Amino acid sequence: EQLEPVDVHEGLENTLLLLNYKLKHGVEVKREYDRDLPRVQALPGMLNHVWTNLVDNAIDAMGGKGHLTVRTAKDGDFLLVEVVDDGPGVPPELLPRIWEPFFTTKPMGHGTGLGLDITRRVVVDRHHGDVRVESKPGRTSFQVRLPLKTPPPG
Ligand code: ADP
Ligand code: MG
Repeated sequence: EQLEPVDVHEGLENTLLLLNYKLKHGVEVKREYDRDLPRVQALPGMLNHVWTNLVDNAIDAMGGKGHLTVRTAKDGDFLLVEVVDDGPGVPPELLPRIWEPFFTTKPMGHGTGLGLDITRRVVVDRHHGDVRVESKPGRTSFQVRLPLKTPPPG
């Protein structure tokens, strides 16, 4: 797979369409898109996995009902995508563990525990970006930063 100029909004919209079957029962989606957002050199298929994982987790955390905000912005030399939900949050003692492969709090058969592991690999290893979480009851935010300057090859 080759790096190509990616329209992040297109990927986010595809994700929201793909997950509409889970959203439509009671999630209010708010888009805060930066209309001047530049394209980013990326692997489009892989980035879509990231958006899908984050939005899917947010919907699950809210039990299918709540407010989801998807925000984009330019942040210095980075493109920022933020996914925010108003669910119960990650208990502080579990925060360091959510990135581990196979870590899930979902009932058997509902989660593989691989979503955030894959997310981190795609963002950090493949795109030289950064992914962070901030969570408290009522507000959880996942922030993905992708470099706008061409990353080193490899
Ligand atoms: P899975 O979705 O299969 O459980 P993930 O790696 O995507 O695996 O997520 C791991 C765990 O992180 C989830 O089971 C959940 O406990 C926690 N988590 C992820 N996103 C959120 C969120 N938005 N709010 C609360 N907890 C979350
Ligand atoms: Mg997941």
